[in-house]
Amino acid sequence: MKNELEILVALQDLDLMLKELDEVRQLGFDVRSEGEEALAKAREELVSQISKPLLGNYERLRAKYKRAIVPVKGDTCLGCFMKLPTYLLTHMQRDQRVINCEGCGRILYWLK
Ligand SMILES: [Zn+2]
Repeated sequence: MKNELEILVALQDLDLMLKELDEVRQLGFDVRSEGEEALAKAREELVSQISKPLLGNYERLRAKYKRAIVPVKGDTCLGCFMKLPTYLLTHMQRDQRVINCEGCGRILYWLK
């Protein structure tokens, strides 16, 4: 079983793909609905594996930002480029906890 953070990253990927499909359609191109259905189905499967509070957190952020979940490189949030305090990074790495950036509020994941 993958951890929730990995699932959330995959979910964001799907959401961005769905959004792209939507944009392509708005440009007047024909989008095959089977493709969209497959994405929507995959999305449902991912959503069912994420806890309700975390999903709510993600959805709220997604309404505000294009990307709700952003990578951390070194000690810097790549969403807003704020340096993150050491205790937060320790918490995140050691306890595998889902952490929100103190600067932009987005969910963070470790860029390996
Ligand atoms: Zn940030």
